[in-house]
Amino acid sequence: MVKAAVLYEANKPMVVKDLNQQAPKSNEVKVKMLAAGVCASDHHVMKGETAFPMPIVLGHEGAGIIEDVGENVTSVSKGDKCILSFVASCGLCVSCRTGLGNLCDTNRITGTKQYDGTFRLKDEKNEDIHQMAKLGVFAEEIVIPENACFKIDDDVPLDVACLIGCSVTTGVGGVINQKEIFPGATIAVFGTGGVGLNTILGGQIINSSKIIAVDILESKLEFSYKFGATHTINSKNEDVHEKILEITNGKGVDFGFDAFGSAITTEQMVKSLRKGGTGVIIGLAPLGMTANIDLVDMVRDHKTLVGSYYGSVSPHVTFERIIEFYKSGRLDINSVIERKYPLEKINEAYEDLESGKDGRGIIDFTI
Ligand SMILES: [Zn+2]
Ligand SMILES: [Zn+2]
Repeated sequence: MVKAAVLYEANKPMVVKDLNQQAPKSNEVKVKMLAAGVCASDHHVMKGETAFPMPIVLGHEGAGIIEDVGENVTSVSKGDKCILSFVASCGLCVSCRTGLGNLCDTNRITGTKQYDGTFRLKDEKNEDIHQMAKLGVFAEEIVIPENACFKIDDDVPLDVACLIGCSVTTGVGGVINQKEIFPGATIAVFGTGGVGLNTILGGQIINSSKIIAVDILESKLEFSYKFGATHTINSKNEDVHEKILEITNGKGVDFGFDAFGSAITTEQMVKSLRKGGTGVIIGLAPLGMTANIDLVDMVRDHKTLVGSYYGSVSPHVTFERIIEFYKSGRLDINSVIERKYPLEKINEAYEDLESGKDGRGIIDFTI
């Protein structure tokens, strides 16, 4: 039996309960969870804005220690500390073979089931329970693909490691892995939640000359200065486009990052780019949402609009770079962590996220 938070229905609280768990099969491992991030992507599922099969154990941002290994596991062993990737790249599909393990085709097809198309969790009624991103880290122990595990040294704190599993890689990776990015680039970051703050940190890594943070909450904007924002704009009471022109001497920014993911923020971002500028959509908008983009503006001003999923390249590649930045003191991931909760308080953790509290919350399995 393993304790897990199960979502049976959108807009209802998760139920923390015991589930039956199968042992790891071939190329699978059992991980004892130590830390899990409270991320907005899970919240979209809870609110019914992202369609996911249910019942499901949510949570896709985590770190833990390998407790057991199935047959044919070669890359990790019992006792290894790991960052968990929410895309367990298969290594064999076209996306994986072209360097886009973050978009693994096999992973997308099998979704919330394991690679063999079956489940590892059942509830007391013998009903199969899905695992978000094959992980479902809001559980004490999880059985997942070996490929989802990225081994780290023992000196990397597990709360920091868990954030590298999603928000740090999505935000920092979304900046540093952009092909045309350059030192001194001016950037604007729309949305200063967990991913947004990490996008700002990414701006610091590439030595941005100006990092403009845009949000609607004054407290979040204030908080973003801690991470390297040089200017802030409250889009609730200021004209974002006008203000960005003012800050950039009438040019607009070289790069815009929509870390929130919505029609309004993407539209503001594209409008605020300089001639030849690039807008990167990092945040996931609710399913089916579309944006109004001025097509003439795109053509006449040579603007580029791209999406960035999970850091734009294979997750393990970004993890490795981020760990090095962290170890050399260039990435202040610790300051993003503001609150810790035991698994039993998972619903409370999401109420705090919904109310717009600063920084990241963590489910700490050791408290
Ligand atoms: Zn996430
Ligand atoms: Zn693949």
